[in-house]
Amino acid sequence: MNAVLFDFGGTIDTDGVHWSEKFWEYYERFKLPVAKKDFARVFVRSEEELGEDSSLSSATFYATLVKQFTLQFAILGFSERHEVLMRIINACYADVGKTIAGARNLLNDLHGAYKLGLVSNFYGNLEIVCKEFSLDRYFDTMIDSVVVGIRKPDPAIFQLALDRLAIAAQEAYVVGDSYERDIVPGKQLGCTTIWLKGKSWTAHPTETPATDFSIEHFEEIRKILF
Ligand SMILES: [Mg+2]
Repeated sequence: MNAVLFDFGGTIDTDGVHWSEKFWEYYERFKLPVAKKDFARVFVRSEEELGEDSSLSSATFYATLVKQFTLQFAILGFSERHEVLMRIINACYADVGKTIAGARNLLNDLHGAYKLGLVSNFYGNLEIVCKEFSLDRYFDTMIDSVVVGIRKPDPAIFQLALDRLAIAAQEAYVVGDSYERDIVPGKQLGCTTIWLKGKSWTAHPTETPATDFSIEHFEEIRKILF
């Protein structure tokens, strides 16, 4: 049996939209007074701070979103807009839930035909989040960078997934939204790569020789794998 190794953030939870772009959608939708270029800096700073926050390792996705938006609001000086903050968080959580439900249909169909793995630069709570969205049943292995102490783009994190699944790289697909973090290391190991080329906050690279398949929506994986 062949295997498919999936990225989580930006791939399964947003259908290819980078999280900085996803957050930005809500700042626009709720008409918050911030420029996109300023928000980009806030996003980077808040993610750096959250990377140091060990309490996230036991947080649900909802609790993680609360922390992310609350920290962004604090950096922006919007701390008094608590009511907007909660409306944003709830809207975002509902949207992500819908996107993941779509992905779940495909995972349900792949499950049984392929061994499935998850390889993610996350916060230590990947398994909790997968349980929260009823995704855990589909994955034969779930690898969280914080738990294993290896981060993408190090190919070793993908190799660990292959080892756990007892699958050769040549028998595996790697699916992810980041050319640099998913596709390049996947190809380096000898996997077949599927780049979910969605909405990125930086320009996509023009030369992408490590890409075997390029798609714009998660659902298009179906055409490749069936
Ligand atoms: Mg990603």
